[in-house]
Amino acid sequence: MILKILLVVGVIALLYFIYMKGRAAALNSQKEGKDNKQKEKERANEMVECSTCKIYCELDDVLLSNGKYYCSKECLEKIK
Ligand SMILES: [Zn+2]
Repeated sequence: MILKILLVVGVIALLYFIYMKGRAAALNSQKEGKDNKQKEKERANEMVECSTCKIYCELDDVLLSNGKYYCSKECLEKIK
């Protein structure tokens, strides 16, 4: 009889352990997804000033040369 109780308790403990582990993994992946999304959004909204004409462009569109940002190839060539 005592063996049967131990077995039942063991199975419940095992199921509980598996459940908690799965829950933690789900929470972690959810958190990571949120962080990545937030980073992407911040990156897309980042604006930098063109060194030549002083207009602001999105970081994805600018050209980087000698540590300075340029809005276009024309601005980059003007500085030389
Ligand atoms: Zn420019």
